[in-house]
Amino acid sequence: MRQIEQRAVQAYREQFLEEPVLVASAPGRVNLIGEHTDYNGGFVLPCAIDKRVAVAVGHGDTQFYSADFQERCPLLEKRDGSWADYPSGIVWAMKERGFDIPSFQGAFAGDVPLGSGLSSSAAIEAATAIALDALFHLEMVKKDLAVLCQHAENAFVRVNSGIMDQYASLLCQAGTALLIDCRSLEAKPITLNLAGADLTLLICDTYVSRELSATGYNARREACERAAHTLGVRELRDAHLQDLEKLSGEERKRARHVITENSRVLEAVQALQRQDFDAFGQLMYASHRSLRDDYEVSTPELDAFVEIALHSSALGARLTGAGFGGCALALIRSEDAGALVLDVQHCFEARGFTRPEFFSFQPAVGAEFVT
Ligand code: ADP
Ligand code: MG
Repeated sequence: MRQIEQRAVQAYREQFLEEPVLVASAPGRVNLIGEHTDYNGGFVLPCAIDKRVAVAVGHGDTQFYSADFQERCPLLEKRDGSWADYPSGIVWAMKERGFDIPSFQGAFAGDVPLGSGLSSSAAIEAATAIALDALFHLEMVKKDLAVLCQHAENAFVRVNSGIMDQYASLLCQAGTALLIDCRSLEAKPITLNLAGADLTLLICDTYVSRELSATGYNARREACERAAHTLGVRELRDAHLQDLEKLSGEERKRARHVITENSRVLEAVQALQRQDFDAFGQLMYASHRSLRDDYEVSTPELDAFVEIALHSSALGARLTGAGFGGCALALIRSEDAGALVLDVQHCFEARGFTRPEFFSFQPAVGAEFVT
């Protein structure tokens, strides 16, 4: 059992004074490439990180406990803005699907950073979903569980997110990334054996709050919709580089990012299939430049990280997630990761940026449970 799962079991024992029936856990995720392509019907390529949310469950009066918030909450009929929205949303979505969900109790513990863009929300949803599926023998397939989690987040928690986070948290396998076609919802595992090449992924959490990002995000979505409308296509996924001359100003820049980013995802998959990590890394750098210059969602902190990575020996680096703060990601030889961390720490300190947090990892396994 993983340490985080043991923490959930321990919390369950302390709170409910008995042994849980089972414990499940699900990872956060990072998007390797394919940013702001999801709502344009395009492609994304996430992988699971080795930070997870775990939940120990058993039969009892329905209530939840979070070891991280040190708080007990009842099952909510309606969202109240607390962490209990997430497990309650899963129960709500399962009942809406016609499943009988008898009363149960659950204790949560997680180490996915909250609100950093690594999708702790999908991790808590996926952990809850897979735990309840096992506890009540629902026998749903993981893809359907992912769609159910997304529905819970959209309709119950009322966060308008795409399918990437839940797909990644449920469907990823160790040593793979997941190519998702956000239009057809088809997902395909892509081998990503970084350990075999002595490579690692390094995440830098800039701790720059993404709270102001909502307006910027909505403005980007609207610009994409206007561009697609002008071009007479359903979504920007259907547009081509030569269409850009029919656009101008902001819409042209935004569309250029989306069109080139979609191509980069498909090129990145080909690079991985040839185990050409140098080419993959170059596509990460190109993605960052496009997000910085055309999509205009970077920050000085994210740019600094990528700049330092570029001048170190990192194969590639980019901001990851929606931008406006949050995390950046580098692909680097394992032995060089420590030096990059030191360089970035020095630079951030000298420039008066918030102290960042780092962790490196290998692509991890998706949601699973242990009895
Ligand atoms: P992100 O998904 O980028 O981490 P969100 O704001 O979408 O950020 O989701 C974060 C929320 O998910 C938290 O505020 C909390 O309500 C819930 N959550 C995540 N992890 C846990 C946890 N370990 N225990 C309880 N709630 C959690
Ligand atoms: Mg989230």
